[in-house]
Amino acid sequence: MQAPFLFKAISADLIAAFAREGEHIGPASVSEIIVTAFGFWTAKLAREYETPFIVVAVPTTHPELPAHLHLRWVIERIKKLLKVDEWKAQKLASITLDLVRKFGLRIDMHSVLFDEHLEHSRTKILKALHDPDFPPAQASVAIGAGVLPWPETSLAARLELIGQDLNFAEVVSRDTTYLWNRPPRDLREVDSVYLDRVDMRDNKPFSAELGLGFSLVKPYAGVGRKPSQNYQLFAPILHYRATPNKWRTSGIVSTTYYETDRVARGGHSLADMIGAPLMSLPRVHVCPACMAVFAPRIAPHRCKESGPHALHLVEILQTRFDTGHTVFTAKEMLADARPPRGRSGDTVTQEALEEFLHAYRGSLALRAFEGTWKLMHKPAIKLKASATPEASAPHAGA
Ligand SMILES: [Zn+2]
Repeated sequence: MQAPFLFKAISADLIAAFAREGEHIGPASVSEIIVTAFGFWTAKLAREYETPFIVVAVPTTHPELPAHLHLRWVIERIKKLLKVDEWKAQKLASITLDLVRKFGLRIDMHSVLFDEHLEHSRTKILKALHDPDFPPAQASVAIGAGVLPWPETSLAARLELIGQDLNFAEVVSRDTTYLWNRPPRDLREVDSVYLDRVDMRDNKPFSAELGLGFSLVKPYAGVGRKPSQNYQLFAPILHYRATPNKWRTSGIVSTTYYETDRVARGGHSLADMIGAPLMSLPRVHVCPACMAVFAPRIAPHRCKESGPHALHLVEILQTRFDTGHTVFTAKEMLADARPPRGRSGDTVTQEALEEFLHAYRGSLALRAFEGTWKLMHKPAIKLKASATPEASAPHAGA
């Protein structure tokens, strides 16, 4: 944990600020006061939990409220440590909180929620951060307080979540796509993957947003440019709505990173930021049987057995489009001479077919109209049991 280094820098400022108020304290006491601002009883406890402290510049594109700090606790701790009266303690506490905010010191909540090595202390850190006297402002803190449901935490499960968003499975199936876990926070094209906020109304969560902590990258050739000069970056976010009390992804935003232009203006290439060529990142695939989005290098894909075989279903839909049979019901599909078949060659129930068409309607180019399905265009998803080794990808990065 880099905390001792971060604390050293902010401690010097805080010691100087306290000295201006006529109070002299040492680094050990300063550490105790700082961790109290985040809700920890002692600095030792914060260390034991491996609390991931970071320094973050105030975001410009997604202005957010500063993370809640425990003012009352800091006042009490200062009174105890410095033997000063309430008035003086209040003044010193407000100096402390201002400095912590100005410095940008905070806890890396995405690391707390999602990093495997913090699994043992995840709930303890979140519990410390929650101030029972205030409604949570961060989704992560609300999750720890039991106000919001837990989202999927493993990277593989978070990646799978996005497959049903819009036409995302189709997008991934068409071109080489890479998974970039934990992109830099100051990369504004994808800084929303670190969103962490909740809107509380009447003591209940009304809505919340939580970035998934990873980005997807597609080498993209713009007009007059070679591939690998521009990249399409996707920033997936979870949205929470009180009804039906669930997290889900919706409307994944993508932006273009004009690498040549950025480098020419003194910016970084993606490879610089990744610290390795782009193609060294895990490749993302779409399962030709169940259409789940997965990255074999993160976790092997386990296909769900029930449901229609996606590759077969897409062929049927493409034929329907070519022959002008674009409006139909699931029941009619199953009554066809060539009905969709199940993943293990068995028959598919109407319920399973409906469920699948609904889940992947975006990628299958379908729209629902009063109990019928309509093909909006020919499905463009490219499902192939691809054996292409990752190293032979056409885009070699920078
Ligand atoms: Zn599958």
